[in-house]
Amino acid sequence: MTKQASNPQTLEWQAMSRDHHLAPFSDFKQLAESGPRVITKADGVYLWDSEGNKILDGMAGLWCVAIGYGRDELADAASKQMKELPFYNLFFQTAHPPVLELAKTLAEIAPAGMSHVFFTGSGSEGNDTMLRMVRHYWAIKGQPQKKVIISRINGYHGSTVAGASLGGMKFMHEQGDLPIPGIEHIAQPYWFGEGGDMSPDEFGIWAADQLEQKILEVGEENVAAFIAEPIQGAGGVIVPPDSYWPRIREILAKYDILFVADEVICGFGRTGEWFGSDYYGLKPDLMTIAKGLTSGYIPMGGLIVRDSVVEVLNQGGDFNHGFTYSGHPVAAAVALENIRILREEKIIERVKAETAPYLQQRLRELADHPLVGEVRGVGMLGAIELVKNKATRERYPSESGAGMICRGHCFDNGLIMRAVGDTMIISPPLVISKAEIDELVGKARECLDLTAAELAG
Ligand SMILES: *Cc1c(COP(=O)(O)O)cnc(C)c1O
Repeated sequence: MTKQASNPQTLEWQAMSRDHHLAPFSDFKQLAESGPRVITKADGVYLWDSEGNKILDGMAGLWCVAIGYGRDELADAASKQMKELPFYNLFFQTAHPPVLELAKTLAEIAPAGMSHVFFTGSGSEGNDTMLRMVRHYWAIKGQPQKKVIISRINGYHGSTVAGASLGGMKFMHEQGDLPIPGIEHIAQPYWFGEGGDMSPDEFGIWAADQLEQKILEVGEENVAAFIAEPIQGAGGVIVPPDSYWPRIREILAKYDILFVADEVICGFGRTGEWFGSDYYGLKPDLMTIAKGLTSGYIPMGGLIVRDSVVEVLNQGGDFNHGFTYSGHPVAAAVALENIRILREEKIIERVKAETAPYLQQRLRELADHPLVGEVRGVGMLGAIELVKNKATRERYPSESGAGMICRGHCFDNGLIMRAVGDTMIISPPLVISKAEIDELVGKARECLDLTAAELAG
Protein backbone atom coordinates (compact mmCIF):
# COMPACT_ATOMS: atom_id res chain seq x y z
CA MET A 1 0.00 0.00 0.00
CA THR A 2 1.13 3.52 -0.69
CA LYS A 3 0.71 4.98 2.79
CA GLN A 4 2.54 3.49 5.78
CA ALA A 5 0.12 1.72 8.12
CA SER A 6 -0.37 3.18 11.60
CA ASN A 7 -2.76 0.70 13.19
CA PRO A 8 -0.68 -1.99 14.99
CA GLN A 9 -3.22 -4.60 13.93
CA THR A 10 -2.55 -3.72 10.27
CA LEU A 11 1.17 -4.17 10.80
CA GLU A 12 0.51 -7.58 12.35
CA TRP A 13 -1.61 -8.66 9.37
CA GLN A 14 0.98 -7.38 6.95
CA ALA A 15 3.60 -9.48 8.75
CA MET A 16 1.36 -12.56 8.35
CA SER A 17 1.09 -11.76 4.65
CA ARG A 18 4.86 -11.43 4.31
CA ASP A 19 5.58 -14.58 6.31
CA HIS A 20 2.86 -16.91 5.03
CA HIS A 21 0.72 -15.76 2.12
CA LEU A 22 1.30 -16.12 -1.62
CA ALA A 23 -1.23 -13.81 -3.25
CA PRO A 24 -2.73 -14.31 -6.74
CA PHE A 25 -1.52 -12.10 -9.61
CA SER A 26 1.09 -10.50 -7.35
CA ASP A 27 4.84 -9.97 -7.19
CA PHE A 28 5.42 -11.99 -4.00
CA LYS A 29 8.66 -10.25 -3.08
CA GLN A 30 7.39 -6.75 -3.73
CA LEU A 31 4.15 -7.42 -1.82
CA ALA A 32 6.13 -8.79 1.13
CA GLU A 33 8.02 -5.50 1.25
CA SER A 34 5.09 -3.11 0.83
CA GLY A 35 2.40 -5.12 2.64
CA PRO A 36 -1.17 -5.49 1.40
CA ARG A 37 -3.99 -3.09 2.11
CA VAL A 38 -6.21 -5.14 4.41
CA ILE A 39 -9.93 -4.88 3.69
CA THR A 40 -11.94 -5.65 6.79
CA LYS A 41 -15.59 -4.93 6.06
CA ALA A 42 -18.03 -3.70 3.46
CA ASP A 43 -21.53 -2.37 3.03
CA GLY A 44 -23.42 -1.33 -0.10
CA VAL A 45 -20.81 0.02 -2.52
CA TYR A 46 -18.26 0.84 0.20
CA LEU A 47 -15.28 -0.99 1.67
CA TRP A 48 -13.34 -0.23 4.84
CA ASP A 49 -9.67 -1.07 5.33
CA SER A 50 -7.89 -1.88 8.58
CA GLU A 51 -6.70 1.73 8.82
CA GLY A 52 -10.32 2.90 8.99
CA ASN A 53 -10.41 4.34 5.46
CA LYS A 54 -13.74 4.21 3.65
CA ILE A 55 -13.37 3.39 -0.03
CA LEU A 56 -15.93 3.47 -2.85
CA ASP A 57 -15.53 0.13 -4.63
CA GLY A 58 -15.60 1.08 -8.31
CA MET A 59 -14.79 -2.53 -9.26
CA ALA A 60 -17.51 -4.46 -7.35
CA GLY A 61 -14.76 -6.57 -5.83
CA LEU A 62 -13.53 -8.25 -8.99
CA TRP A 63 -16.54 -7.41 -11.20
CA CYS A 64 -18.71 -9.70 -9.12
CA VAL A 65 -20.55 -7.99 -6.26
CA ALA A 66 -23.60 -7.13 -8.37
CA ILE A 67 -26.13 -6.60 -5.58
CA GLY A 68 -23.63 -4.79 -3.35
CA TYR A 69 -22.13 -5.78 -0.02
CA GLY A 70 -23.94 -6.52 3.19
CA ARG A 71 -27.05 -8.34 2.01
CA ASP A 72 -28.05 -10.53 4.96
CA GLU A 73 -30.45 -12.53 2.78
CA LEU A 74 -27.48 -14.25 1.11
CA ALA A 75 -25.85 -15.02 4.45
CA ASP A 76 -29.16 -16.40 5.72
CA ALA A 77 -29.62 -18.56 2.60
CA ALA A 78 -26.12 -19.99 3.09
CA SER A 79 -26.68 -20.60 6.79
CA LYS A 80 -30.02 -22.31 6.24
CA GLN A 81 -28.61 -24.56 3.51
CA MET A 82 -25.53 -25.42 5.58
CA LYS A 83 -27.72 -26.58 8.42
CA GLU A 84 -30.00 -28.61 6.17
CA LEU A 85 -27.52 -30.16 3.74
CA PRO A 86 -24.05 -28.60 3.70
CA PHE A 87 -22.73 -30.88 0.99
CA TYR A 88 -23.62 -33.64 -1.29
CA ASN A 89 -22.15 -34.39 -4.69
CA LEU A 90 -23.88 -34.73 -8.03
CA PHE A 91 -21.81 -37.61 -9.31
CA PHE A 92 -23.22 -41.10 -9.81
CA GLN A 93 -26.86 -40.13 -10.34
CA THR A 94 -27.62 -38.06 -7.26
CA ALA A 95 -28.89 -34.49 -6.94
CA HIS A 96 -30.20 -32.04 -4.35
CA PRO A 97 -32.94 -29.40 -4.44
CA PRO A 98 -30.85 -26.18 -4.62
CA VAL A 99 -28.91 -27.24 -7.73
CA LEU A 100 -32.07 -28.33 -9.54
CA GLU A 101 -33.92 -25.15 -8.65
CA LEU A 102 -30.95 -23.05 -9.73
CA ALA A 103 -30.65 -24.85 -13.09
CA LYS A 104 -34.35 -24.23 -13.73
CA THR A 105 -34.05 -20.57 -12.71
CA LEU A 106 -31.06 -20.01 -14.98
CA ALA A 107 -32.95 -21.57 -17.88
CA GLU A 108 -35.69 -18.96 -17.30
CA ILE A 109 -33.32 -16.01 -17.58
CA ALA A 110 -30.97 -17.40 -20.26
CA PRO A 111 -31.61 -16.74 -23.97
CA ALA A 112 -34.30 -18.94 -25.54
CA GLY A 113 -33.22 -22.49 -26.30
CA MET A 114 -30.55 -22.60 -23.59
CA SER A 115 -32.13 -24.66 -20.88
CA HIS A 116 -29.39 -26.84 -19.37
CA VAL A 117 -26.59 -25.95 -16.98
CA PHE A 118 -23.34 -27.66 -15.97
CA PHE A 119 -22.00 -26.23 -12.69
CA THR A 120 -18.40 -25.59 -11.67
CA GLY A 121 -16.64 -23.78 -8.87
CA SER A 122 -15.38 -20.83 -10.93
CA GLY A 123 -15.27 -19.17 -14.33
CA SER A 124 -11.94 -20.81 -15.13
CA GLU A 125 -13.38 -24.24 -14.42
CA GLY A 126 -16.33 -23.28 -16.61
CA ASN A 127 -14.00 -22.64 -19.52
CA ASP A 128 -12.02 -25.83 -18.85
CA THR A 129 -15.33 -27.67 -18.94
CA MET A 130 -16.23 -25.89 -22.17
CA LEU A 131 -13.02 -27.02 -23.87
CA ARG A 132 -13.64 -30.65 -23.01
CA MET A 133 -17.36 -30.45 -23.73
CA VAL A 134 -17.07 -28.95 -27.23
CA ARG A 135 -14.37 -31.44 -28.27
CA HIS A 136 -16.51 -34.25 -26.89
CA TYR A 137 -19.49 -32.85 -28.83
CA TRP A 138 -17.65 -32.99 -32.15
CA ALA A 139 -16.26 -36.44 -31.40
CA ILE A 140 -19.82 -37.71 -30.80
CA LYS A 141 -20.77 -36.20 -34.15
CA GLY A 142 -18.04 -38.27 -35.79
CA GLN A 143 -15.65 -35.35 -36.30
CA PRO A 144 -13.00 -35.84 -33.57
CA GLN A 145 -10.51 -33.75 -35.54
CA LYS A 146 -12.66 -30.64 -34.95
CA LYS A 147 -10.65 -29.58 -31.92
CA VAL A 148 -9.25 -26.11 -32.47
CA ILE A 149 -10.72 -23.30 -30.41
CA ILE A 150 -10.31 -19.78 -31.70
CA SER A 151 -10.09 -17.00 -29.16
CA ARG A 152 -8.74 -13.47 -29.07
CA ILE A 153 -5.51 -11.77 -28.12
CA ASN A 154 -6.03 -9.94 -24.81
CA GLY A 155 -9.20 -11.86 -24.05
CA TYR A 156 -9.49 -13.21 -20.50
CA HIS A 157 -10.91 -16.65 -19.83
CA GLY A 158 -9.42 -17.55 -16.46
CA SER A 159 -6.24 -18.82 -14.93
CA THR A 160 -6.35 -22.62 -15.05
CA VAL A 161 -4.24 -24.21 -17.78
CA ALA A 162 -7.11 -24.22 -20.26
CA GLY A 163 -8.43 -20.84 -19.10
CA ALA A 164 -5.08 -19.11 -19.43
CA SER A 165 -4.48 -20.82 -22.79
CA LEU A 166 -7.86 -19.71 -24.12
CA GLY A 167 -7.14 -16.23 -22.86
CA GLY A 168 -4.86 -14.09 -24.93
CA MET A 169 -2.70 -12.58 -22.20
CA LYS A 170 0.93 -12.79 -23.31
CA PHE A 171 2.27 -12.26 -19.79
CA MET A 172 0.30 -15.32 -18.66
CA HIS A 173 1.39 -17.49 -21.61
CA GLU A 174 5.02 -16.69 -20.82
CA GLN A 175 4.78 -18.61 -17.56
CA GLY A 176 4.18 -22.37 -17.66
CA ASP A 177 4.60 -22.99 -21.39
CA LEU A 178 1.17 -21.88 -22.57
CA PRO A 179 -0.99 -21.92 -24.56
CA ILE A 180 -1.65 -25.66 -24.78
CA PRO A 181 -1.95 -26.98 -28.36
CA GLY A 182 -5.16 -26.53 -30.31
CA ILE A 183 -5.89 -22.91 -29.43
CA GLU A 184 -5.52 -20.10 -31.98
CA HIS A 185 -5.67 -16.39 -31.16
CA ILE A 186 -6.93 -13.64 -33.44
CA ALA A 187 -6.83 -9.85 -33.14
CA GLN A 188 -9.08 -8.07 -30.64
CA PRO A 189 -11.55 -5.31 -31.59
CA TYR A 190 -9.65 -2.65 -29.65
CA TRP A 191 -10.01 0.42 -31.86
CA PHE A 192 -8.51 3.00 -29.47
CA GLY A 193 -5.30 1.02 -29.02
CA GLU A 194 -4.93 -0.70 -32.36
CA GLY A 195 -7.25 0.90 -34.91
CA GLY A 196 -4.60 3.19 -36.46
CA ASP A 197 -6.07 5.40 -39.18
CA MET A 198 -9.16 3.25 -39.73
CA SER A 199 -12.54 4.50 -38.54
CA PRO A 200 -13.94 2.47 -35.64
CA ASP A 201 -16.42 0.72 -37.95
CA GLU A 202 -13.81 -0.09 -40.60
CA PHE A 203 -11.60 -1.48 -37.86
CA GLY A 204 -14.48 -3.50 -36.38
CA ILE A 205 -15.06 -5.19 -39.75
CA TRP A 206 -11.34 -5.84 -40.13
CA ALA A 207 -11.10 -7.38 -36.65
CA ALA A 208 -14.19 -9.56 -37.22
CA ASP A 209 -12.83 -10.72 -40.57
CA GLN A 210 -9.81 -12.12 -38.72
CA LEU A 211 -12.16 -14.84 -37.50
CA GLU A 212 -13.05 -15.89 -41.03
CA GLN A 213 -9.42 -15.82 -42.10
CA LYS A 214 -8.45 -18.02 -39.17
CA ILE A 215 -11.26 -20.50 -39.88
CA LEU A 216 -10.06 -20.75 -43.50
CA GLU A 217 -6.42 -21.04 -42.45
CA VAL A 218 -7.05 -23.81 -39.88
CA GLY A 219 -9.77 -25.42 -41.99
CA GLU A 220 -13.43 -25.43 -40.97
CA GLU A 221 -13.18 -29.20 -40.54
CA ASN A 222 -10.67 -28.64 -37.70
CA VAL A 223 -12.38 -25.82 -35.79
CA ALA A 224 -14.53 -26.70 -32.78
CA ALA A 225 -15.51 -23.29 -31.47
CA PHE A 226 -14.94 -19.57 -31.19
CA ILE A 227 -14.92 -18.10 -27.68
CA ALA A 228 -15.23 -14.41 -26.83
CA GLU A 229 -16.37 -12.04 -24.12
CA PRO A 230 -19.18 -9.79 -25.44
CA ILE A 231 -17.16 -6.93 -23.93
CA GLN A 232 -13.59 -7.76 -22.88
CA GLY A 233 -13.31 -7.03 -19.18
CA ALA A 234 -9.84 -7.70 -17.79
CA GLY A 235 -8.33 -6.72 -21.15
CA GLY A 236 -9.45 -3.14 -20.45
CA VAL A 237 -13.23 -2.88 -20.87
CA ILE A 238 -12.94 -3.08 -24.63
CA VAL A 239 -16.29 -2.23 -26.17
CA PRO A 240 -16.12 -3.40 -29.79
CA PRO A 241 -17.03 -0.98 -32.59
CA ASP A 242 -20.71 -1.23 -33.63
CA SER A 243 -19.77 -3.10 -36.80
CA TYR A 244 -17.98 -5.93 -34.98
CA TRP A 245 -20.63 -8.27 -33.57
CA PRO A 246 -22.97 -8.09 -36.61
CA ARG A 247 -20.05 -9.13 -38.84
CA ILE A 248 -19.04 -11.91 -36.44
CA ARG A 249 -22.65 -13.15 -36.50
CA GLU A 250 -22.53 -13.30 -40.32
CA ILE A 251 -19.29 -15.28 -40.20
CA LEU A 252 -20.56 -17.69 -37.55
CA ALA A 253 -23.67 -18.34 -39.67
CA LYS A 254 -21.49 -19.39 -42.62
CA TYR A 255 -19.43 -22.02 -40.83
CA ASP A 256 -20.29 -25.09 -38.80
CA ILE A 257 -18.56 -24.13 -35.54
CA LEU A 258 -19.84 -23.53 -32.04
CA PHE A 259 -19.91 -20.07 -30.47
CA VAL A 260 -19.11 -19.68 -26.78
CA ALA A 261 -19.94 -16.38 -25.08
CA ASP A 262 -17.82 -15.92 -21.96
CA GLU A 263 -20.41 -14.10 -19.85
CA VAL A 264 -18.44 -14.24 -16.60
CA ILE A 265 -18.34 -10.43 -16.44
CA CYS A 266 -21.15 -9.40 -18.80
CA GLY A 267 -23.70 -11.81 -17.34
CA PHE A 268 -26.22 -11.02 -14.60
CA GLY A 269 -27.01 -7.47 -15.57
CA ARG A 270 -23.70 -5.73 -16.08
CA THR A 271 -24.75 -4.41 -19.51
CA GLY A 272 -28.31 -3.60 -18.43
CA GLU A 273 -29.54 -6.92 -19.87
CA TRP A 274 -29.32 -10.32 -18.21
CA PHE A 275 -26.47 -11.31 -20.51
CA GLY A 276 -24.06 -9.52 -22.83
CA SER A 277 -25.39 -11.84 -25.53
CA ASP A 278 -28.84 -10.24 -25.06
CA TYR A 279 -27.29 -6.78 -25.33
CA TYR A 280 -25.60 -7.58 -28.65
CA GLY A 281 -28.21 -10.00 -30.01
CA LEU A 282 -25.76 -12.91 -30.07
CA LYS A 283 -26.83 -16.52 -30.30
CA PRO A 284 -24.29 -18.51 -28.28
CA ASP A 285 -24.21 -22.30 -28.15
CA LEU A 286 -22.60 -22.19 -24.71
CA MET A 287 -22.26 -19.40 -22.14
CA THR A 288 -19.68 -19.41 -19.35
CA ILE A 289 -20.99 -17.86 -16.14
CA ALA A 290 -19.53 -17.07 -12.68
CA LYS A 291 -18.92 -13.78 -10.78
CA GLY A 292 -22.36 -12.08 -10.77
CA LEU A 293 -24.07 -15.49 -10.48
CA THR A 294 -23.58 -15.32 -6.70
CA SER A 295 -22.57 -11.65 -6.49
CA GLY A 296 -19.24 -13.08 -5.33
CA TYR A 297 -20.62 -14.00 -1.89
CA ILE A 298 -19.51 -17.59 -2.51
CA PRO A 299 -17.61 -19.19 -5.40
CA MET A 300 -19.62 -20.69 -8.23
CA GLY A 301 -19.44 -20.90 -12.01
CA GLY A 302 -20.94 -22.90 -14.80
CA LEU A 303 -21.82 -23.37 -18.42
CA ILE A 304 -25.28 -22.78 -19.85
CA VAL A 305 -25.69 -25.04 -22.86
CA ARG A 306 -27.98 -24.80 -25.90
CA ASP A 307 -30.57 -27.56 -26.29
CA SER A 308 -29.23 -28.61 -29.71
CA VAL A 309 -25.81 -29.21 -28.13
CA VAL A 310 -27.35 -31.16 -25.25
CA GLU A 311 -29.18 -33.38 -27.76
CA VAL A 312 -25.83 -34.40 -29.23
CA LEU A 313 -24.19 -34.84 -25.82
CA ASN A 314 -27.10 -37.11 -24.89
CA GLN A 315 -25.90 -39.54 -27.59
CA GLY A 316 -22.36 -39.73 -26.15
CA GLY A 317 -22.64 -41.78 -22.98
CA ASP A 318 -20.74 -40.59 -19.90
CA PHE A 319 -19.14 -37.13 -19.92
CA ASN A 320 -16.05 -37.98 -17.90
CA HIS A 321 -15.70 -34.64 -16.24
CA GLY A 322 -16.82 -32.89 -13.06
CA PHE A 323 -15.71 -31.31 -9.82
CA THR A 324 -16.31 -32.27 -6.21
CA TYR A 325 -17.98 -28.91 -5.81
CA SER A 326 -19.94 -28.86 -9.08
CA GLY A 327 -23.31 -27.40 -8.08
CA HIS A 328 -22.40 -27.14 -4.39
CA PRO A 329 -25.68 -26.85 -2.45
CA VAL A 330 -24.63 -23.83 -0.38
CA ALA A 331 -23.36 -21.97 -3.46
CA ALA A 332 -26.55 -22.88 -5.32
CA ALA A 333 -28.72 -21.59 -2.45
CA VAL A 334 -26.79 -18.31 -2.44
CA ALA A 335 -27.05 -17.98 -6.24
CA LEU A 336 -30.81 -18.54 -6.05
CA GLU A 337 -31.17 -15.83 -3.43
CA ASN A 338 -28.96 -13.47 -5.45
CA ILE A 339 -31.08 -14.00 -8.57
CA ARG A 340 -34.27 -13.57 -6.55
CA ILE A 341 -32.99 -10.18 -5.37
CA LEU A 342 -31.91 -9.14 -8.87
CA ARG A 343 -35.39 -10.01 -10.15
CA GLU A 344 -37.64 -8.82 -7.33
CA GLU A 345 -35.84 -5.54 -6.79
CA LYS A 346 -35.72 -5.00 -10.57
CA ILE A 347 -32.05 -4.13 -10.26
CA ILE A 348 -31.21 -4.82 -13.92
CA GLU A 349 -34.23 -2.82 -15.12
CA ARG A 350 -33.05 0.12 -13.01
CA VAL A 351 -29.50 -0.20 -14.36
CA LYS A 352 -30.81 -0.10 -17.92
CA ALA A 353 -33.34 2.69 -17.50
CA GLU A 354 -31.66 4.96 -14.97
CA THR A 355 -28.27 4.38 -13.45
CA ALA A 356 -26.28 3.09 -16.42
CA PRO A 357 -27.30 5.97 -18.70
CA TYR A 358 -26.42 8.33 -15.86
CA LEU A 359 -23.05 6.68 -15.20
CA GLN A 360 -22.18 6.72 -18.91
CA GLN A 361 -23.16 10.38 -19.27
CA ARG A 362 -21.22 11.47 -16.17
CA LEU A 363 -18.16 9.40 -17.11
CA ARG A 364 -18.04 10.96 -20.57
CA GLU A 365 -17.71 14.39 -18.98
CA LEU A 366 -14.18 13.29 -18.10
CA ALA A 367 -13.30 13.24 -21.82
CA ASP A 368 -12.47 16.97 -21.63
CA HIS A 369 -9.63 16.27 -19.20
CA PRO A 370 -6.17 16.89 -20.75
CA LEU A 371 -5.01 13.40 -19.74
CA VAL A 372 -8.00 11.57 -21.21
CA GLY A 373 -7.94 10.24 -24.77
CA GLU A 374 -11.25 8.37 -24.72
CA VAL A 375 -14.05 7.44 -22.36
CA ARG A 376 -16.16 4.44 -23.31
CA GLY A 377 -18.49 2.01 -21.65
CA VAL A 378 -21.73 0.09 -21.69
CA GLY A 379 -24.06 -0.45 -18.75
CA MET A 380 -22.09 -0.58 -15.53
CA LEU A 381 -18.74 -0.96 -17.31
CA GLY A 382 -16.46 1.96 -18.11
CA ALA A 383 -12.94 2.73 -19.34
CA ILE A 384 -10.88 5.91 -19.34
CA GLU A 385 -7.82 5.96 -21.61
CA LEU A 386 -4.88 7.99 -20.31
CA VAL A 387 -2.80 9.60 -23.06
CA LYS A 388 0.02 12.06 -23.56
CA ASN A 389 -1.54 13.46 -26.73
CA LYS A 390 -5.30 13.49 -27.12
CA ALA A 391 -5.28 14.08 -30.88
CA THR A 392 -2.83 11.34 -31.86
CA ARG A 393 -3.77 8.88 -29.03
CA GLU A 394 -0.05 8.79 -28.16
CA ARG A 395 0.63 7.12 -24.79
CA TYR A 396 3.05 8.03 -22.05
CA PRO A 397 6.15 5.83 -22.21
CA SER A 398 5.43 2.64 -20.28
CA GLU A 399 8.11 3.42 -17.67
CA SER A 400 6.06 6.48 -16.60
CA GLY A 401 3.47 4.08 -15.21
CA ALA A 402 0.63 6.55 -15.72
CA GLY A 403 -2.08 3.97 -15.00
CA MET A 404 -0.44 2.78 -11.78
CA ILE A 405 0.06 6.39 -10.64
CA CYS A 406 -3.61 7.09 -11.20
CA ARG A 407 -4.63 3.87 -9.45
CA GLY A 408 -2.51 4.86 -6.44
CA HIS A 409 -4.12 8.31 -6.22
CA CYS A 410 -7.56 6.71 -6.45
CA PHE A 411 -6.80 4.29 -3.63
CA ASP A 412 -5.43 7.11 -1.45
CA ASN A 413 -8.52 9.20 -2.10
CA GLY A 414 -11.11 6.56 -1.35
CA LEU A 415 -11.90 5.14 -4.79
CA ILE A 416 -11.03 1.77 -6.30
CA MET A 417 -10.40 2.02 -10.02
CA ARG A 418 -8.28 -0.61 -11.69
CA ALA A 419 -5.48 0.11 -14.18
CA VAL A 420 -4.91 -2.11 -17.23
CA GLY A 421 -1.76 -0.51 -18.56
CA ASP A 422 -2.87 3.11 -18.98
CA THR A 423 -6.54 2.24 -19.25
CA MET A 424 -8.47 3.02 -16.07
CA ILE A 425 -11.49 0.77 -15.68
CA ILE A 426 -14.57 0.65 -13.52
CA SER A 427 -17.30 -1.88 -12.91
CA PRO A 428 -19.22 -0.77 -9.81
CA PRO A 429 -21.93 -2.76 -8.03
CA LEU A 430 -25.16 -2.67 -10.05
CA VAL A 431 -26.93 -1.10 -7.08
CA ILE A 432 -24.81 2.07 -7.10
CA SER A 433 -27.03 5.15 -6.74
CA LYS A 434 -26.86 8.38 -8.71
CA ALA A 435 -25.35 10.20 -5.72
CA GLU A 436 -22.69 7.51 -5.43
CA ILE A 437 -22.02 7.81 -9.17
CA ASP A 438 -21.48 11.54 -8.63
CA GLU A 439 -19.00 10.73 -5.90
CA LEU A 440 -17.22 8.19 -8.13
CA VAL A 441 -16.88 10.59 -11.06
CA GLY A 442 -15.88 13.50 -8.80
CA LYS A 443 -13.14 11.44 -7.20
CA ALA A 444 -12.01 10.14 -10.58
CA ARG A 445 -11.56 13.71 -11.82
CA GLU A 446 -9.55 14.70 -8.74
CA CYS A 447 -7.32 11.68 -9.25
CA LEU A 448 -6.83 12.50 -12.92
CA ASP A 449 -5.71 16.01 -11.86
CA LEU A 450 -3.27 14.56 -9.34
CA THR A 451 -1.98 12.10 -11.95
CA ALA A 452 -1.52 14.84 -14.56
CA ALA A 453 0.38 16.95 -12.02
CA GLU A 454 2.63 14.03 -11.07
CA LEU A 455 3.34 13.16 -14.71
CA ALA A 456 4.14 16.82 -15.48
CA GLY A 457 6.35 17.22 -12.42
C1 LIG B 1 -12.89 -13.67 -14.10
C2 LIG B 1 -13.12 -14.25 -15.45
C3 LIG B 1 -12.95 -15.61 -15.70
C4 LIG B 1 -12.40 -16.55 -14.66
O1 LIG B 1 -13.23 -16.70 -13.58
P1 LIG B 1 -12.62 -17.24 -12.18
O2 LIG B 1 -13.83 -17.39 -11.33
O3 LIG B 1 -11.63 -16.21 -11.72
O4 LIG B 1 -11.96 -18.53 -12.48
C5 LIG B 1 -13.27 -16.10 -16.94
N1 LIG B 1 -13.73 -15.30 -17.90
C6 LIG B 1 -13.90 -13.98 -17.71
C7 LIG B 1 -14.44 -13.14 -18.81
C8 LIG B 1 -13.57 -13.40 -16.49
O5 LIG B 1 -13.69 -12.09 -16.30
